[in-house]
Amino acid sequence: MATLFPLHRGRMEYFCLGCGARHGIDQLLYTCPECGGVFLLEDLDFDKLRETPGEGWREIFDARAGEKRAFLRGIFRFYEITAPVLESEDIICLGEGNTPIVEASPALQQRLGGQRMAYKNDGQNPSASFKDRGMACAYSYLKALIRKHKWDSVLTICASTGDTSAAAALYSAYVGGAIRTVVLLPQGKVTPQQLAQPLGSGAVVMEIPGVFDDCMKVVEHLADNYRVALLNSKNAWRILGQESYAFEVAQWYDWDMAGKCVFVPIGNAGNVTAIMGGFLKLHRLGIINELPRVFGVQSHHADPVYRYYNESDPTKRTYQPVKVTPSVAQAAMIGNPVSFPRVKHFVDQYTAIGGRDAFQVLQVTEQAIMEAMLLANRHGHIADTQGGECLAGLMTAMDQKLISKDELAVLDATAHMLKFIGFQEMYFQNNFPPEYGVSPDPAMTNAPLPVLSMQDKQSLTPEEFTLKAAETVASRLGVERKR
Ligand SMILES: *Cc1c(COP(=O)(O)O)cnc(C)c1O
Ligand SMILES: [Zn+2]
Repeated sequence: MATLFPLHRGRMEYFCLGCGARHGIDQLLYTCPECGGVFLLEDLDFDKLRETPGEGWREIFDARAGEKRAFLRGIFRFYEITAPVLESEDIICLGEGNTPIVEASPALQQRLGGQRMAYKNDGQNPSASFKDRGMACAYSYLKALIRKHKWDSVLTICASTGDTSAAAALYSAYVGGAIRTVVLLPQGKVTPQQLAQPLGSGAVVMEIPGVFDDCMKVVEHLADNYRVALLNSKNAWRILGQESYAFEVAQWYDWDMAGKCVFVPIGNAGNVTAIMGGFLKLHRLGIINELPRVFGVQSHHADPVYRYYNESDPTKRTYQPVKVTPSVAQAAMIGNPVSFPRVKHFVDQYTAIGGRDAFQVLQVTEQAIMEAMLLANRHGHIADTQGGECLAGLMTAMDQKLISKDELAVLDATAHMLKFIGFQEMYFQNNFPPEYGVSPDPAMTNAPLPVLSMQDKQSLTPEEFTLKAAETVASRLGVERKR
């Protein structure tokens, strides 16, 4: 039995997807100083891990599933294939990762014509979205840098559609010390819950008129010209941490990915990058023998990746940023995804192994997103609007016969439903601004029913009031009296 304590140490480097340049990791780099391209991180000794057969790795990762030591408990259960340059003292774990996979109820599967599906509830991460996976890795690396260089102050900064800033502020508040966090949000374009999170964690929150893409440009300018640590998904350490989603999916199904399809919403495209990258690593080490198929999903209000891949002839594909319009999948409302070059990089590798159908992007309407989310949640799930987007994507894939009933669809509910609850409210109260193009189906709405009035409360004795209220409830519901 191999040791649970990780012995492997890698040699990691940034490599640029634009020009292929390589850079050491003792400095914070986000984009290539030579060409401005985005980076991925690579362990030059990754192939040494092949000395342990796939079965050996499966045993190690399975044995670590019950681990209590913080540095192996969360996403670093997969230490050797994540960031094998960090020391245990630098690794932060706030309980991220290891989120549950919940199979759809029989009634929901029946509604879907027998299609097998499950949600992975990434909203059950500490700040209630998958962004914690990447932040745990990015902040662990930052802690290592601070220790090494003895820095006495680091300002971290991010632009956000809401969840990145909530996660950054949480991890920053925990680490404290030299780290201070500033988050830039598009004014009025994050939910009240998402705004409350960084405020509660004590971060400096700045609002910029415009959309996410406007905030991103400001943050990029700051990162290029000032001493700040950028925590957007340009930061390749975040991508590494987010690979844990793929590792956990594979592990949950006993490393058997045959017949599995993973659905993921695409915004800035960091998550889909990490998921493909993660499965490719497992495949390279023989930990899994097949790649699951990956379906990216985008709203018709923010669909640049869909548009690119919708052209079936690869030689005719051209990338065009799009101007976004309001979307209920607000966390994915991004017209010019930073990680697009990473997506292309991994899609080429992914389809080379898994075939043409191994990666596809689906487009769904705002109406379909809302209705899919409500349908899921009426069957015991806790999907946010992006989780609804995944289910709308699955339904589209079914309609277009891109998936068969023997396959199992695993849908990413990327955040907890409560973060985006305002959209449910707009649906139930039929007050969506027209730009969204959502009109409620009365059969799907719900509202609290008042029982008696304040006047009744004041005019009756407490006992009479209880009795009358109970009788009103019983008669509304038509329940029979016990004999
Ligand atoms: C960030 C986010 C997304 C989009 O993920 P990308 O990595 O930007 O593609 C989707 N859903 C939620 C809840 C998010 O927070
Ligand atoms: Zn470059």
